[in-house]
Amino acid sequence: MKTMDRFHLVPHDRLLASMLDELEHEQILGIPRACFFRPSPDDPFTMIRYGRRLETPVGAAAGPHTQLARNLVAAWLCGGRYLELKTVQILDELTLARPCIDMRDEGYNCEWSQELKLEQSFAEYLNGLLLILTLRRRLGFPGSEDGRDPGFIMNMSAGYDLAGITSPAMVRFLDRMAHCPEEIAEAARNLARVCPELDEVSLPDAVSTSLTISTMHGCPPDEVQRIALHFIEERGLHTTLKLNPTLLGPQRVRDLLGGLGWDLEVPDTVFANDLSLDQALPIVRTLSAAARKRGVEFNLKLTNTLPCVNRSALPKAEQQVYCSGRPLHPLAVHVALLLREHMDDAADCPPLSFCAGADAFNTPDLLAADLGPVTTCSDLLKPGGYARLRQYLDVLSDRMSSVGARNLEEWRKYARNNSLSLADYAKTTAASRRYAKTRKTHTDVKIPRPLPRRDCFTAPCMAACAAGQDIPAYLGHMAENNAPAALAAIRDTNPLAHHLGLACDAQCRKRCTRGNLDAPLRIREAKAVAARLGKADRANTRIISGTASSPETRARVAIHGLDARTASCAGTLVQAGVPVTLLVPKNAMHLGKDTSPAQRALLADIADLAALSKDGASEDNSTFGSLLIHEHSDQDQQIFEHDFTFDDPMPSGPGSLPRAVTLGRQAAEAYLNAQGITKPPAPHRPDADLPTLRMSRHIRDFGPYSCPEAITRKVSGDQAMAREASRCLRCDTLCEVCVTVCPNRAIMALQSFPGLIAAGQVQRAHDGQPEILITQKRPLTDCTQIVILADFCNACGNCAAFCPSSDAPFAVKPRIHLTRASFEEEKEGYFPVGPDRLEILRNGIPASLIKTIDGLRYQSNALTLTLDSATLYPSMIDLAENTEHADLEQALEAGLIHIMLMSSSLLPFGFMR
Ligand code: SF4
Ligand code: SF4
Ligand code: SF4
Repeated sequence: MKTMDRFHLVPHDRLLASMLDELEHEQILGIPRACFFRPSPDDPFTMIRYGRRLETPVGAAAGPHTQLARNLVAAWLCGGRYLELKTVQILDELTLARPCIDMRDEGYNCEWSQELKLEQSFAEYLNGLLLILTLRRRLGFPGSEDGRDPGFIMNMSAGYDLAGITSPAMVRFLDRMAHCPEEIAEAARNLARVCPELDEVSLPDAVSTSLTISTMHGCPPDEVQRIALHFIEERGLHTTLKLNPTLLGPQRVRDLLGGLGWDLEVPDTVFANDLSLDQALPIVRTLSAAARKRGVEFNLKLTNTLPCVNRSALPKAEQQVYCSGRPLHPLAVHVALLLREHMDDAADCPPLSFCAGADAFNTPDLLAADLGPVTTCSDLLKPGGYARLRQYLDVLSDRMSSVGARNLEEWRKYARNNSLSLADYAKTTAASRRYAKTRKTHTDVKIPRPLPRRDCFTAPCMAACAAGQDIPAYLGHMAENNAPAALAAIRDTNPLAHHLGLACDAQCRKRCTRGNLDAPLRIREAKAVAARLGKADRANTRIISGTASSPETRARVAIHGLDARTASCAGTLVQAGVPVTLLVPKNAMHLGKDTSPAQRALLADIADLAALSKDGASEDNSTFGSLLIHEHSDQDQQIFEHDFTFDDPMPSGPGSLPRAVTLGRQAAEAYLNAQGITKPPAPHRPDADLPTLRMSRHIRDFGPYSCPEAITRKVSGDQAMAREASRCLRCDTLCEVCVTVCPNRAIMALQSFPGLIAAGQVQRAHDGQPEILITQKRPLTDCTQIVILADFCNACGNCAAFCPSSDAPFAVKPRIHLTRASFEEEKEGYFPVGPDRLEILRNGIPASLIKTIDGLRYQSNALTLTLDSATLYPSMIDLAENTEHADLEQALEAGLIHIMLMSSSLLPFGFMR
């Protein structure tokens, strides 16, 4: 399927109608209301910029989060108040490489400027402003009737050379952005029809009166100055000049990157073509003086991205890509320090705003060093997305209140008085693990599984576990401080909790989704704690040194040897009620000073398994088999009904221990099957609180064993494990990672259909009449189903990086089109023409679904049938002439999509006109 890589804009009144409808259900654009930032007059972090009040000192940087009106709304809802609009330029019909974003760790992009035409960008920015004012009023925020003091700023960004900037099309764009009262009034009238409260708001007469200059890397110094003077002197705009990290010079940049372990290759030409410090300082002085004279503000923004040779996952045709995120942070902080040190007088240095690897935890430090407002992009492209902006403010608030700072000035003063200067901070960033390449412990969560079109939720940790452990279940029990239940969940597939809890190489951890957010879960260690706490009081009670003639040795099954396979086999059988004798080598059970910790753990497992049958029955009254340990001698073998031997060498390489456990378990299960013995039912899984799980996806939570600064923190005692386990996101119960990372909020999670979904086909019977052959009926397992709003997807590829499956959600999931233009251009997906009609294109071949009094009438070239509108059961079938059979799948998916869309609060009829 070829997906479109350009936007199709939806009328803003329909967008607003949809948002208001969602708000009735406590969310907007799929963002839960609990993630919204609600300003308060007591907020300590307000700041003034260009003479205007910002309710918060954070926002979204010019980029993918600021090109559509809906993106601006999303950033604002979550607390962004400085909104740097995506850069516009005269070339507004670009063809860009796709994918264009690679954010798996440090960020790379090959994006450029706005992907819309100038006229469309203007409409998006203007309506973004009005949508925010409308929602602000609807949400009843303080001062929401005053649209002239809205508490946020939209800051334009323009590039890339003076000729383009002064071209007629750009002049028209810039003129309108800075003064457009009639257009604002007209757009407001349109939106007020949907939300009359907008009539109560005093409207501004401009979309933006400030601008950040985005010059390309390599823009000549005199051109940079001319462009800035144009905006300051001729346009009278508050002007910000975005500087490049290359200002530090090649040696310093490479030293800083190398010191932190980054092997980015920044070509010499990049440094040669960019502004040097010697060139930049006089320009900055000239521009500061010009701004003073003109009565506008002049600022610097630190920094632009860093060009480097493409070694990312972006198309290889792009030889150079732009690096952002963690490696950029120390560079930008050092640029700030360099500028402050080199301006004649510190007061002479223009205000510095910041955007380079900012996150919730370093934003307070940046603001303490008077670097603000702080905007962010890379961090918002990671799981959690826009909604994590709330955490920036929560962390900032906490840190300010911990030292009694009532406003940002007091916060800066505290930093000055406590030797927390910019120089100190810069020094910290140059050596901090959190900016080092090694801070992230794994590269990605991808597992080999192809992405299904529905029911896709999966826990990637489980796929990586060769023992098939139900990791979310045992972590869930541990989070509830229920170690016995956790141990039962572990033993269901792995009877060796001590052994693997200590000695497994934990491939699961390398796939933990939390690794993309903060720190992967201590999955293996949780197993060890469950083993210790779950059965701590049952040690060694059944290990006897029996002889062949003692009654216990009349067990039916003997297992020869002592390793993870034999112990796993024994444990599986014992739990199924089979009496087992484990014939071990002489002295194998004796602990000596040479016994390794891993061997001790294995013996502890055997002891615990033997102890299981001490009382004869488990808590659910199933009977355990006895486990006897017998030092092996030849004559013992003859009395057993079945012998297990594992003659092959033990597995080796990654995941060898869990593979050994699986070999043992599978051998036991084969025996149980052959004997007609049923395995005990799987232990119950802990309940999941979906709203809590959904919220926890947005928050970086390092848990007790890690922190933003360090991967490992020493914690003694087992009790911290409950807190650690509570970080588990239960990915198999709720994933929706793709929903959070899409900067365009183009991925929706629709409430799932509660009934059964059939599979099968329609074929011609012997009499030539069509008949339905249902091969399977099963319920959907996931609580929501993922669809793509194709109009808002530009194929940036970010969802593909974080989806644990091997495919890209935007390319696999059903695509819903909100405009006919999008539908017809792509020739793939669903177009809900209205509540009663769905038009369908699959590989360009049309079909339709129409609601009738009989049900949902599906019609394609090959098949016509009616689906029950409640159960989706097919009837009234017909096959086209010369068609012998047709699969039901497409018709059933169409019915499913229709039902989910119609019952969704996310897609109101407002979209379907
Ligand atoms: S968050 Fe939990 S379920 Fe998800 S990958 Fe990590 S351990 Fe597994
Ligand atoms: S759906 Fe995926 S590819 Fe499309 S815009 Fe969103 S993140 Fe990018
Ligand atoms: S990231 Fe999205 S598409 Fe991928 S498994 Fe999770 S919910 Fe499904």
